[in-house]
Amino acid sequence: MEFTFEHIVSLLRGGGEELFAEADRVRRLTVGDGIHLRGLIEYTNICHKNCLYCGIRRDSRVARYTLTDDQVIASVRYAVEQGFGSVVIQGGEICAEAHVEAIERIVRRISGMDGPAVVLSLGEQTAGTYRRWFDAGASRYLLRIESSDPALYARIHPADHSFDRRLEALRDLRRTGYEVGTGVMIGLPWQSVESLAHDLLFMRKFDIDMCGMGPYLECDGTPLASFAHETQGSQQWRGELTLRMIAILRLMMPDINIASTTALQAISPDMRLRGLSCGANVAMPNISPSELRANYVLYDNKPVGIDPRILEMARPNGVNPRGRSMRFMRRECNVI
Ligand code: SAH
Ligand code: SF4
Repeated sequence: MEFTFEHIVSLLRGGGEELFAEADRVRRLTVGDGIHLRGLIEYTNICHKNCLYCGIRRDSRVARYTLTDDQVIASVRYAVEQGFGSVVIQGGEICAEAHVEAIERIVRRISGMDGPAVVLSLGEQTAGTYRRWFDAGASRYLLRIESSDPALYARIHPADHSFDRRLEALRDLRRTGYEVGTGVMIGLPWQSVESLAHDLLFMRKFDIDMCGMGPYLECDGTPLASFAHETQGSQQWRGELTLRMIAILRLMMPDINIASTTALQAISPDMRLRGLSCGANVAMPNISPSELRANYVLYDNKPVGIDPRILEMARPNGVNPRGRSMRFMRRECNVI
């Protein structure tokens, strides 16, 4: 089906059970019945950026930490024991050489374990850094565009954060050879349904391999939290809108990987589960050392623990055990 802007807007406004059931059917048909599990390791909450919505922004007064190499490897071992196909190393954006080297070293160690695929989510970096991490063994990268509308992007970031630079980083990732994931926050202040429709069209035009999108959740003390009155609807409503975004994207791009994010679970325990039955096929359980999780707070009410119902949905996948994006395989490797 050809998804026009008008069609997407009308589904975002009115899509219900029929839309969800169709997305679930298409998901099972194209990327399979089982859910892929990707262990989330929150590597550091140090960040040199100052995004107006984020709890670990440079100006936040939180206790900062960085995991040791051994702590990361212990989490990866846990992921291997649990049978997870991939791990994500996520953290604040730091461009210092010591950080670039540390990630390179850790990625090399994980690759040597013949373990899960390594996904990185460490912000905007130079093309050279992306290349070094890729050569060390990282194969996927998550970098959300946050909003594809440059004007909205400018309102939720300080003046020295650049939309064009972010786009360039996404292009660098693609050129380097990564499976590229992006996504947006849903229910941001000043964001319209039309703007979200453009976000979905942006993702199709960029031909992304993976998507992670979730509701925007206020984080106390951040500049954007004080614009609560400008925010479009309750958190519950933002969650419902996120489910519609997931379902529509599944129909627009049937063979990509779509995550049902932790932020959905923060609204209610069932929301993330619902995401997995309306188009999403990836869940990202947090496997960071538990004593440090309290310091990695991007938004309020962050959930802890792995929902056992999600573990049940993950079935061993003999054909694609590491949960690669089918879209990527079709485009880059000419397989399937
Ligand atoms: N520093 C890296 C990765 C960590 S932040 C980066 O920015 O890419 C990961 C994601 O958390 C961001 O892309 C953003 O979309 C999300 N996030 C941050 N603050 C949030 C909030 N208040 N509500 C919902 N999502 C948020
Ligand atoms: Fe840093 Fe990412 Fe948070 Fe922005 S969203 S402040 S880059 S951790």
